[in-house]
Amino acid sequence: MTGNKNYNFDNFDVTLHPERKSRERVTEKKSVSTHEFPKLNFKEISLSKRGGSKHSNGNGNFTKIAVCAVALVLVVSLIIGLVSCASGKDKTKKKDENNNMSVEEMTLQNAKISAAQYDYDKAIADVKGLEKYATDTELQALVSTWEQEKSTLVEFPHDQITHIFFHSLIWEPDLAFAPDNNKADGYNLVMTTVDEFNAIIQSMYDKNYVMVSMHDICTFDEQGNRIDHQIMLPPDKKAFVLSQDDLNYYHIQDGDGIATKLIIDENGKVINEYKKLDGSVTYGDFDVVPLIDRFVEKHPEFSYKGHKGILALTGYNGVLGYRTDSVYADINDPNLDPDQIQFLEANPDFDYQKEVEEAKKVADKMKENGWEFATHTWGHRTVPDMSMDTLTTDTGKWRAYVEPVVGKTDVMIFPNGSDLTGTGYYDSSIERFNYLYSEGIRIFCPVDSTPYWQQKGDNYFRMSRRNLDGYRMYHNPERCEDLFDPNAVFDKKRPLPVPTMEEVYG
Ligand SMILES: [Zn+2]
Repeated sequence: MTGNKNYNFDNFDVTLHPERKSRERVTEKKSVSTHEFPKLNFKEISLSKRGGSKHSNGNGNFTKIAVCAVALVLVVSLIIGLVSCASGKDKTKKKDENNNMSVEEMTLQNAKISAAQYDYDKAIADVKGLEKYATDTELQALVSTWEQEKSTLVEFPHDQITHIFFHSLIWEPDLAFAPDNNKADGYNLVMTTVDEFNAIIQSMYDKNYVMVSMHDICTFDEQGNRIDHQIMLPPDKKAFVLSQDDLNYYHIQDGDGIATKLIIDENGKVINEYKKLDGSVTYGDFDVVPLIDRFVEKHPEFSYKGHKGILALTGYNGVLGYRTDSVYADINDPNLDPDQIQFLEANPDFDYQKEVEEAKKVADKMKENGWEFATHTWGHRTVPDMSMDTLTTDTGKWRAYVEPVVGKTDVMIFPNGSDLTGTGYYDSSIERFNYLYSEGIRIFCPVDSTPYWQQKGDNYFRMSRRNLDGYRMYHNPERCEDLFDPNAVFDKKRPLPVPTMEEVYG
């Protein structure tokens, strides 16, 4: 175990509900405090209440997505076609009509990306699999170079892997921080602007950080035993984990200068939809996922074996900007809140099943691109404060309405900076641990401001995360300096001073 005496849960994980209440919880370790918002949009919905859609097809808002879906099908068909080609001797030189590359050229290009991302075994195997390898001295030399580079890799120590996280990024600070926006103080505290994020990522790249998955650290066998893995990097590189919380695009963020959805564009890339104040819609890279995708396209060596971040999802407003929770299926559902009713009334052609299908396509594409998903509880609930009945209901809803979209996960990213205990090891005396474990959770992530805090149990892994937001940059700039210069990064559009948690949440 690696520990740190200054294990402070500085919570920055909120969905910025203006009516929420905060209070402090002190557990067995006195330095552990959390800020909790138990009334946050959580609704006790019976799982049996899920209804069928009463709405018809044909919403014009989805035309673009439909076009994108067709494009996706075409791309998938193309890939299938190319794979088929690769299996035929004479077809390997067939040109891809879109990018004018032969299958051999594409294989070589992908192998070079694999090598840049430290996956030399894959790169070498792929090139050796080329038909012309036996007679192509250039390819043979390339493989020799990669074998030499691979021999210089060293194991990066797990206990020095830092884990950073963000919320949805602010694209238009003038809207988020507007004086008449009652969420401005909250955004100023816990959010990061796109300009800040880009500067942070550029700085970390310049400092030789490489993005890894928590599953590069360890995985678990069917019996739950932890299996550690080696992360092999050049000696000057440093591994880090990236996560993003609440990638749901909540209704309450509408009009606040934050992206509204993730979609697949005509080139098969995942990008954002962004609804402007005037109601018009634009598309681009406005949040963590597309920004990192573009950055890794440009700098493949920023990603270890193509792995990217892990995205924590609740379920009550759907996921990724898609309204996939069960309540949206029926405009008469008594559990709909005013925001949800307003959404359904504004979108009379909303088709619940189609919405779920579209969300799943985007999630599948994101997984293909190296992203992973974690549970953040369905209702953004503070896990240690929930009764077991509530925890069971909440988990059931995540599994019923989020898991079908994003797939199974073994990672819990705790909302509201909470955790199951203080810094002691989890054990079978902790009822909530036993329950979450029985639901397949093996990796648990609280919040902490120190560079590293990890705990390796025999059958679980616990890794704390650092918030890089307005609060941290303004109040504790020294805690960012290993990663970036907070004075250079800090967005000048933020109102000053950045408030404290107590000032905002009492
Ligand atoms: Zn959260």
